[in-house]
Amino acid sequence: MIFHTSPMVRNGAGFRAGGGQIEVVTSYVYLGVTFTSLPGPFSMRQVATDRLTRGYAALAMLERRCHQAHFQEPRTKGWLFDTLVRPAMMYAATVWAPGLTVTQWSAIERPQVRMISRLFRGKQSVPHDIIRAELAAPPMAVEALFQTICFIQRIRDLPTDRLTHRALEASIQISELGYERAWYTQVRVWFDSHGLDMDRLPPFQYDPDSPHIHLSRRERNVVLRQDLWQLYISQTWHTPHMGSRLSHYRDQFIDILADGFIQRPRYMDTHMPHSLRVAIGQLRVSSHRLEIETGRAADIPREERICRVCTVEMEDEEHFVCRCSAYDGIRGRYETLFAGQPTLREIMDSRDQRQLGRFLLEIQSHRDSLLQPTVALHTGGRQSQLTDFFIPRRAAALPPSAHIPSGVTLQQAQISRARRRPRDIGYRAPRLHRHQIAEIQACDHRAMEERRSQMMADPVAAIRVALTPPPPMYHILHPTH
Ligand SMILES: [Zn+2]
Repeated sequence: MIFHTSPMVRNGAGFRAGGGQIEVVTSYVYLGVTFTSLPGPFSMRQVATDRLTRGYAALAMLERRCHQAHFQEPRTKGWLFDTLVRPAMMYAATVWAPGLTVTQWSAIERPQVRMISRLFRGKQSVPHDIIRAELAAPPMAVEALFQTICFIQRIRDLPTDRLTHRALEASIQISELGYERAWYTQVRVWFDSHGLDMDRLPPFQYDPDSPHIHLSRRERNVVLRQDLWQLYISQTWHTPHMGSRLSHYRDQFIDILADGFIQRPRYMDTHMPHSLRVAIGQLRVSSHRLEIETGRAADIPREERICRVCTVEMEDEEHFVCRCSAYDGIRGRYETLFAGQPTLREIMDSRDQRQLGRFLLEIQSHRDSLLQPTVALHTGGRQSQLTDFFIPRRAAALPPSAHIPSGVTLQQAQISRARRRPRDIGYRAPRLHRHQIAEIQACDHRAMEERRSQMMADPVAAIRVALTPPPPMYHILHPTH
């Protein structure tokens, strides 16, 4: 294959090898990167798009299978994601990851965030870091950093006469000359943005040159991955400059252990119905409809987001769960949750998470019923009383045909829908009738008989046929043979 942009090569077509002509192409894919002869500066955008397409395809397959099996267990879904989707997305990340922009990175992170967010139907506006913290899952960037550091260390360990080692050295030299688009420069800038120093790469706790501790490559990889994940957590959650949502989540919900890792919340490890998990998760990530959240969207000052149920104080998660007097009766029935005046954090971390989910669902539905408009449609009043209210008085004087208001009535809509999408109700005759099924069975029987008689006539040929392996998938497509 020849990859060349000059028209002289394309039109000349004079290269031959082994008796055949060598193909001249305008684009080819190597290590996941599509190289084309298109004009303009080379960018990694197309790679990011390609990886995203692969990732979403794998994720769709995963979600479909889980949906078919009614399977929503978070931890296992996380493992499935790590096995099926992450490798598809992170293929050859060493090559393209350092060259991506911040926007492209956030697109790369999105499939994982969507998968986790779907577990509790979080809103789209919830920051990615909060969503990932719910499952204690490291971002894709950590995986890409890990791959790149492994790659650099592996090449450094190679003998100096190897081509890859020389290529790395060449890239370092070009980078030292000040070229911004060199791979090594991009890696250094990218490492810098994640707080890593090229001269002092993790694993931090172990000196790889120490004569006393010898780590195998596998052990070193484990330590390296943990170091990167720890570093990311401390950069995200221990920084003084963070948004109000992140700091609220950090103060109220996230549990960062002494060794620097995020503890996965208890409800993610508990077997419970999906609706309960949604109730707990939405409260944790602020995907609810409490005043503190709706007021944010409506730009109401924080102090004025007063609880509409008791009108005493600001309605935030703590007021809703622990204090609002409207739900005192319900709290009384959940003694185990509220024994000993617990804080919001203690309640959310209580041992019986199913109980917590049921409580949250109950106070939510109670709140909805209290805040619903007082017009009750099902209290026996005729609906016409409502509609009559909106029909102008003068309509009564007009002839009966003019009484029908313009627009579509419910009945008309149903009729037109039925006309658009005819739907047969009741018994549906089977596609295959009894005599057709009998015919298929007889046909199959005849084929079996034929094979048996062949076997009797020429056993050697029949055995040879039986021993020849069928093409792959043949047994699935032809189950009777
Ligand atoms: Zn209240």
